[in-house]
Amino acid sequence: RHPTAPSVMNGHFAGLGENASAADFEHGVQIVDQEKNFNENLGAYLQMEGIIRAGFNYHLISVFGSQSTGKSTLLNFLFGTQFGVMSEQERRQTTKGIWMSRNKKEHASGERRMADNILVMDVEGTDGRERGEDQDFERKSALFALATSEVLIVNIWEHQVGLYQGANMGLLKTVFEVNLQLFLKNASNITRSLLFFVIRDHLGTTPVSNLKQTLIQDLQRIWTGLSKPPGLEKSKIEDYFDFAFVALPHKILQPEKFEQEVRALGTRFREGYKDPKRAGLVDEQSEPILLPEYHRRIPADGFPIYARGVWEQIDSNKDLDLPTQQELLAQFRCDEISKEVLVPFDEIIVPLEEQQAQDVAAGKASIIAKLGKIMAGARSTLMASFEEEASRYHKAVYKRKQGELETKVDGRLKTLFQGQMTAAHKNGINDFSEAVTQSVKAGQKKGSNYDFHKIVQSEKERALKRFEAEAQSSLVANTPWSDHKSQLNLYRKDLDAVSARLRKEEMRRLATRSERWVRSKLDESVGLAFNALGSGRAGSGAPADGQTKPPATGDLWDRIWTIFTDTVSHAEERFAERAQSFDASPDEVEVGLWRLRRKSWGALRGKIDDEMMEGNLLLKLRENFEDKFRYDDDGVPRIWRPTDDIEGLYTRARESTLELVPLLARFRLARTGGPPPLEAWIGEAPAEVTAADEEDLVPIGGVDEEEARTLEEEMTILSDGKAADLSTRFKKTADGVYVEAKRSAIGGMTQ
Ligand code: GDP
Ligand code: MG
Repeated sequence: RHPTAPSVMNGHFAGLGENASAADFEHGVQIVDQEKNFNENLGAYLQMEGIIRAGFNYHLISVFGSQSTGKSTLLNFLFGTQFGVMSEQERRQTTKGIWMSRNKKEHASGERRMADNILVMDVEGTDGRERGEDQDFERKSALFALATSEVLIVNIWEHQVGLYQGANMGLLKTVFEVNLQLFLKNASNITRSLLFFVIRDHLGTTPVSNLKQTLIQDLQRIWTGLSKPPGLEKSKIEDYFDFAFVALPHKILQPEKFEQEVRALGTRFREGYKDPKRAGLVDEQSEPILLPEYHRRIPADGFPIYARGVWEQIDSNKDLDLPTQQELLAQFRCDEISKEVLVPFDEIIVPLEEQQAQDVAAGKASIIAKLGKIMAGARSTLMASFEEEASRYHKAVYKRKQGELETKVDGRLKTLFQGQMTAAHKNGINDFSEAVTQSVKAGQKKGSNYDFHKIVQSEKERALKRFEAEAQSSLVANTPWSDHKSQLNLYRKDLDAVSARLRKEEMRRLATRSERWVRSKLDESVGLAFNALGSGRAGSGAPADGQTKPPATGDLWDRIWTIFTDTVSHAEERFAERAQSFDASPDEVEVGLWRLRRKSWGALRGKIDDEMMEGNLLLKLRENFEDKFRYDDDGVPRIWRPTDDIEGLYTRARESTLELVPLLARFRLARTGGPPPLEAWIGEAPAEVTAADEEDLVPIGGVDEEEARTLEEEMTILSDGKAADLSTRFKKTADGVYVEAKRSAIGGMTQ
């Protein structure tokens, strides 16, 4: 006992044995106790012995035989185990239940490392004496050993050979019966075993070959005598078993020889595999004993669970269905392995998932750098670890569990990937919009000649490239979910939508610039036209012969209309040209032009109203009047003399100027006598006009149907009342001028 032995348990494995220490395993591990309870510490034992991770690289050898035939002694000699043996004095049963121990014999140089992973099972012997007539345990332990072991050592005294009725034969009959029972259920899964006869206390007088013959005859006889289940009537003993025989000298009488031959026999177990070509050949001399086909193909890490399952089936007298047991084992272990391999995976992936969830909650669109590489690494490590551990188990179950694990993991990775794509999308759209806006601003600073279309195209290209690059560095090659095509399409669509919005804004800017241009042009040209009113010598009806004479006042509106339509046409042309340069649709252009015309009319109307403000107009009328009254036809100022017909000149000039008032009161073209063709000029609203387009438009009388005013009203510049008032006030001003002229005429005389 080692009271201070440290606990060997460091975490869970194989689902068994959480609370055992090395001290508990001094004699190996009692897999099944005398109450037929299975020991939950088997896993802990295999862990301690370093076998749990051995995969298929371990071997299981069991021993059978009557009670007190030196079985435990033999195993201890062969494998250096410390199974309890009967003391020479007491002679009572020692081994209870089923024990297991790892081989402790150092392997001599040259022997392969197979020795490390040999497990030996010491099965309680039977002869009916110690356990009464209870054959139950004998059957159960035989079945258990057959379901798990590669080699069954049958331990037999030499003097028992040939005693067909002896206890050994009863045991062998049991072994064959349970074997048939086992493989009836598991016909698809027949595994051969080696029945290895060790003949004890061999005196040497009868050669082993003779003993062998006798035993084989007995075995055949037992086999023939068995009632075989339907379908297996014709089966032969050799279908299930290989046989080997060895004889050992008397341990007490020839201790040295005994030890020497036991040593030689032990070597044969540890040497590695027998030449498969010699499979089934009976040999008792010196060749290795194990064959790969004896192996039960239960991975070491699954052995504790499997053994427990098998024992539970056996102990509850259920039919032992090994394929089902193996499937159950595979399910259990694959689930455990899935959990294990998810631990390092989660260490990498969970923080990313949390980060992403936080960012989403905070409305942040942040990109996880090298996401694809990280995910691919975590995923491939996980799948490789899973394959390494789980692929040893039942193939179909393994495949299914692998699929489940992959689906689970890929679901999470896909979420990360899509989250990343969503963030890339959001960022990309923002960046694109921002970049275009900035470039336009920079362009505007340099003058309005920037190429909006080019800006949008090159920014769009950059945005797509960046998105593509982000997708490429976020996906995991060869996974069905690593497909960003739909996201890319969505992204493209959004870029187009943003482009359309930006283009609309650009259109608005263009429209504003055009309107401003029209307004300033009109300001100047229309201002000049109105200023001409001040020149009375070009009075109503006076011939306008162009160059030298100022323009006629009578066609004021014609000239204004021409200035207006020319100016707007020019602006329209430039607008259309520029709008097309950045790919505005014909519809958009049409709407833009329509708006421009309406707005321009508003600008003109505003300008006219400015010019027609009472003070301005009165001033112009006075100028017009004075020009006629105070200057002669050659433009020379008159010096009033008393003889002059001041009154006549005054009356003519006044009447002439007063004629302007009704002319100015209505926007009428002299050439048609009617209002300008405003409705036709503006044109009908294009079908594509939206509410937003119309929002800032001022209604125009006679053009807009819903507008109560008529075109006549739209073209009314001065109401009748205002015109009359203006005339009155003008007359008063003119009267003042006249009085002054009169005074100056008289004054000139007095001087
Ligand atoms: P088990 O019940 O089959 O495991 O038998 P044990 O190993 O406990 O041994 C039973 C008794 O047989 C012990 O007293 C041993 O000393 C003795 N014994 C062991 N090996 C031999 C042997 O080869 N020949 C003889 N004659 N006695 C042996
Ligand atoms: Mg024993």
